[in-house]
Amino acid sequence: MASPDHRIPFALDKHGNIASIEEVENGAACACTCPSCSAPLIARQSKTGKTVWHFAHAKGYGCSEAFESSLHLGVKRIIEDAGWLELPECNVLRYPDEFVEALRTSAEVCHPPYSYRTHELNPVRRRGPGEAFAPARRVEFESVQLEKREGNIRPDIVATVAGKTLYVEVAVHNPVDRDKLAKIRARGNATIEISIDPKRSTWTPDELRTFVLENARSKAWLFNPRLEEKADQDYEAKAELRKRIANDEAEARRRHEAYLEKIDDQRRREREKKMAAQRELAVARAAKLEEIRRNAGTLTRTDGAGTEDRNGLGLPSWMSESPEVSFQRANAYRILSKETPSPTHPVLAPVLFLDLDGLLRPQQEGFDERVQRLAAVLAGRLCSVIVTSEIRRKCNAHQVAGMLKELGGRHIGFTPTLEGGGPQQCVAEINAWMMRNLMPTSKIVVAHSTVQPFPAAWDVLIGQSECGFSDADGFRLMDLMANKRTWGH
Ligand SMILES: [Zn+2]
Repeated sequence: MASPDHRIPFALDKHGNIASIEEVENGAACACTCPSCSAPLIARQSKTGKTVWHFAHAKGYGCSEAFESSLHLGVKRIIEDAGWLELPECNVLRYPDEFVEALRTSAEVCHPPYSYRTHELNPVRRRGPGEAFAPARRVEFESVQLEKREGNIRPDIVATVAGKTLYVEVAVHNPVDRDKLAKIRARGNATIEISIDPKRSTWTPDELRTFVLENARSKAWLFNPRLEEKADQDYEAKAELRKRIANDEAEARRRHEAYLEKIDDQRRREREKKMAAQRELAVARAAKLEEIRRNAGTLTRTDGAGTEDRNGLGLPSWMSESPEVSFQRANAYRILSKETPSPTHPVLAPVLFLDLDGLLRPQQEGFDERVQRLAAVLAGRLCSVIVTSEIRRKCNAHQVAGMLKELGGRHIGFTPTLEGGGPQQCVAEINAWMMRNLMPTSKIVVAHSTVQPFPAAWDVLIGQSECGFSDADGFRLMDLMANKRTWGH
């Protein structure tokens, strides 16, 4: 603890009183003893002033407690002689009752619910749920007693100020611990602690005097019952405010939870709606598939067998159809089973050759709206849609049929993609499709975004709008489908 560098500034004289190095004879003539080990000490009063005046053990043996005991003695002697002390400021915070348990393990708060702050580096008075403050002040002692037993404790100094007892503790290595603090609090007397840095090795009596008496930062309040009482009063006075704040917080929490619940609810409803729509779509698709299978099934029995398939008239379904419908069915079946598989429906005339990229523009905003417009034009018409545009190269027929599902269960297919290019390309591909499908070519409608050398027999709509298939295009296409050739080229 104490090294040889620690210079002992105070000792006990031959009467057992505290003696400063300044007031004794030099050398062994001082007749002083060590306050720790009671061995004889020699006063070393350097004439050159190179070393600080101090006591040293006569026989040079190690005594680790001498320096600390000496400072203890010195502080007590200084306060006894002066009879006054500069007390530090005191700021007591009173925490809410519900925090007390949590604060018991806090290193900072020694006595819950109270927390003491004295010489803060930032001298801002702390506000809290309850608080009290007293500035630093000088007090005159009416009496000073050293090492006086007070119940189960022995404070270093027991002083009286304005008729009230003040304990002063001196800490070098051992500050007051929780146990001792509890005993002090039980006595109910105000207590301060003077802390001396154990790393500082030399003190002259003058330096120690200034430090102890005048320096408020050398001290801290351990217990101030008067301020705790004031902090309690402040705490009570602020009860209404605390209640209001707690209510506000609870209300905010409640609103936030209600908001989260509402969002959750909304999401759940959307999810359920989506799932219901998906279920509905699945059912519709299954029904359509079943219908196609049934129709295709009747066509396999060209020998007239299979009378179990009836259309309500007691005849096989294929026997009750007109030759034209029969032809279409047979053709549809052939396409379904061999060539271009339609994801939805057999090929039926008339045929609309559609420039999907150029008119419906799936990459651009408003695609759904344009598809719905086309669906409205085709609604209630037997009509196949054959896609002629570039999208054939990127998507398969099923994907495109998915994009055009608004068009109902009609056949949706592709023209073949031929090598070459140039202005004849689209026309050549449509011709190739018709060759392959052997469709009755009574009605060919082409809806395209650019002018091509289309045969005069076809009904052609060239989209006029910058933004794809417009309302005006829809009306013109409707006219073309109804054989009113108000538009062509
Ligand atoms: Zn000693």
